[in-house]
Amino acid sequence: MAYQVLSRKWRPKKFQDVVGQEHVTRSLQNAIKNDRVGHAYILTGTRGIGKTSVARLFAKSLRCLDRQEDGNSCGSCKSCEEFDSGSSMNIFEIDGASNNSVDDIRELINNVQTLPTFGKYKVYIIDEVHMLSTNAFNALLKTLEEPPSHVVFLLATTEPHKLLNTVLSRCQRFDFRNDSEEVLASHIKEIASKEEITFESEQLIKILASQGNGSFRDTLSLFDQVLSFSEGSTVDEETLSMALGLAKVSSIRNLCWAIISQDSEEVSKFYREMIFENVSVENICKSVLEYFYDIIQNIDQLENLSFNDEMKNFVSKMTIDEVFWIYESLSKDLTWATDSLAPQKTAEIVFQKHAKRGEILHGAGLTISEASKKN
Ligand SMILES: [Zn+2]
Repeated sequence: MAYQVLSRKWRPKKFQDVVGQEHVTRSLQNAIKNDRVGHAYILTGTRGIGKTSVARLFAKSLRCLDRQEDGNSCGSCKSCEEFDSGSSMNIFEIDGASNNSVDDIRELINNVQTLPTFGKYKVYIIDEVHMLSTNAFNALLKTLEEPPSHVVFLLATTEPHKLLNTVLSRCQRFDFRNDSEEVLASHIKEIASKEEITFESEQLIKILASQGNGSFRDTLSLFDQVLSFSEGSTVDEETLSMALGLAKVSSIRNLCWAIISQDSEEVSKFYREMIFENVSVENICKSVLEYFYDIIQNIDQLENLSFNDEMKNFVSKMTIDEVFWIYESLSKDLTWATDSLAPQKTAEIVFQKHAKRGEILHGAGLTISEASKKN
């Protein structure tokens, strides 16, 4: 069987399967159960967060002839089967980005007037509704004002601020939330176990979740990317880093340790190794900042950090001023470096500068604590 991408394979089949959007799914299930269905809904939120999946579940359930008690569709009646085979004459999916002309909407509006071929509702899902042209919108608005009783509009958008207030005021609005890294991580774990894939450590799952920018779909696409890169059913750090162009934990640790122990030659060595392994400058910079963030959060409990004795010794000699100075100064300089004409070289210079902080500040007649006040 051909490989099916994870986001498709794990597309939710029930409201309960939707990740991290209970505040939306519960309201919709209740609307169905209590027979309080509105005529127009706006679903907002960033891309890949489940708006269209939820719209499809809702549409299918609204039309289901043998709906379950919890508001989910049965999956086997005539209407469900039609929908699943993509041949429904009563559920329409329209992409606002490519069907945004006034003629497209006129056609839709004409269609709205006719009754469903069977069942109670006709459902129109318009994705990226903010992309409709102004004329198309105005035409749609008239229908939204007085929709026939058999019609339900489900309008999905990533940019609700682009919609006219006259549209918003006619719709019930549901704002989808970005998924937290914890929620994403727990779902990666669940899917991995069903797919019989093992991650070498929990840390790797956390890293994958952190790369998904709060979107379940994006996270699963990255997961696909990792799987297509790995040889067997085990995901190790090497595979994850190579597939996603990320720095290895050990490489970042080496670079940070070189900064802490003020060894600028080692700094360059470890930095260049990562560049050679195709890790992006941006990823190195972010990972280094995260590493120092962790140090600050655990400065009183060094045993929480995976430091060897030598490094513990270095860190314990740093004052809290110094660690804060390094973080603040790195953060400013790296922002500047990644925006510069030559980000790769500039970032290296920034790391070297922080490794040479003793000499540089001494030359300027400053102690770290004075420098941190001037920062
Ligand atoms: Zn059904």
